[in-house]
Amino acid sequence: MCTAIVLHRVFPSHPVVVAGNRDEWLARPALAPHMWTLQGGNAPVRIFAGKDRKEGGTWFGVNQYGIVVGVTNRYTGTRDEDRASRGQLVLNCLAQNSVQSVLAILTQEEAARYNPFNLFCLSDEEGVVVTHDDQRFQRLPLEEGIHVLTNRPPDDTQDPKREWLRSRLHDLPSDPDGIVEPLSQVLAVHGEGDLPPPVCVHLPGYGTVSSFMLLLASRKEQSRYLYADGSPCRTEFEDLTPDLLRVFLPES
Ligand SMILES: [Zn+2]
Repeated sequence: MCTAIVLHRVFPSHPVVVAGNRDEWLARPALAPHMWTLQGGNAPVRIFAGKDRKEGGTWFGVNQYGIVVGVTNRYTGTRDEDRASRGQLVLNCLAQNSVQSVLAILTQEEAARYNPFNLFCLSDEEGVVVTHDDQRFQRLPLEEGIHVLTNRPPDDTQDPKREWLRSRLHDLPSDPDGIVEPLSQVLAVHGEGDLPPPVCVHLPGYGTVSSFMLLLASRKEQSRYLYADGSPCRTEFEDLTPDLLRVFLPES
């Protein structure tokens, strides 16, 4: 994933809202978000996430405990093909039942097994981004408010995409459903000249292959998931909510 917009504790009824574009090689196959099961520490964990069919990992997901995890690649100019897939790291985190247990497994040593990334993890109460490049390993809190994660450091105020998205989403509606339209608009922006920078990316062989919006409610049955299986500039968002809600159903 290359652009993630996180609204943490902005809407009292929906403490976690995340929207993002997945930028990837167009030929790399993936499955749309659906419910599947991971082997957790003691018991299987239900998750709702897409699946990269090449390496088996994911770029974003939510689990039955309401833990949300996503990753953006960091571009630092170095990339080691022998390192583990960052999509697998997201799955390892989604197998946990709290933000604290994610932080416990995501040590500097563990992070160094992967190419540079920003990994965010949120619950209704807590939010954190772990950023790793070959110089720096940091955990930064995701306080109440809007955050934008791209391929650059999470706190980079010189990042034009981050700054533009934050300014465009400054005036927020009071109702979480009112954020869907503004989010779908900014996710589809291509930019002209220097500003705004392209959020929906079209390059030869590479670009935005899908787009999503998760509105996670504190009463989980009021959550929503919208997904565009293609560039958001020309693909309608489908409502995957009924499938999402199965993740939160109590065990029968
Ligand atoms: Zn586009």
